[in-house]
Amino acid sequence: IIVTKFYQKEKGLLIVISGPSGAGKGTVCKELLNNYDNLLVSISATTRDPRPGEVDGENYYFINKENFLDMIGNNQFLEYAKVYDNYYGTPSKQVLDLMDQGTDVILEIDIQGASQVRANYPEGIYIFVVPPSINELKKRITERGTENKTQMDKRLDCAYDEIRNANKYSYIVINDKVDIAAKQIAAIITAEKCRSVRL
Ligand code: 5GP
Repeated sequence: IIVTKFYQKEKGLLIVISGPSGAGKGTVCKELLNNYDNLLVSISATTRDPRPGEVDGENYYFINKENFLDMIGNNQFLEYAKVYDNYYGTPSKQVLDLMDQGTDVILEIDIQGASQVRANYPEGIYIFVVPPSINELKKRITERGTENKTQMDKRLDCAYDEIRNANKYSYIVINDKVDIAAKQIAAIITAEKCRSVRL
């Protein structure tokens, strides 16, 4: 068993990263991608409008609700959820193909999506990223300035709800300094790769 495990090409890991809006998940993921090989972040589909600077096919696949519902009907999502009135989902094919090729794949998704993935992939690595304090969380959500007051209040409420679910994750990473948070996640991935037995 040991020989098989260590000398066969292994499938890539599925790494799920959640955390409240303002936790800085996106920045931490970027830092991880810049510094570590054989790792990709899955590109989600969403019905939300692009923010200034966001590029279709890079940040998200921006699609309309009709196309999103078609994709649900055709079973094309690994998971999907409605977050702040918009749909978000992970197209399954790209993720499963990459994992088959041995690439580790990060899903940066909300807690509802993470529960769906957990039900089917208990062997995944579940990481929750939080900001260093509630005040910092408020500051980050407000300073981003891409949302109006109602949207920001909604994001804050959801953030509190999300944080209450942190204990469903195997790891919690506090994102005070991005490079340190990314190093901690890299260490988690490395440790998981050295496990003698996976779940
Ligand atoms: P944002 O609009 O700020 O880009 O993302 C809002 C929330 O949706 C974040 O919590 C983000 O992690 C989550 N999200 C992004 N893509 C997906 C996805 O494919 N599935 C799910 N369930 N959540 C997603």
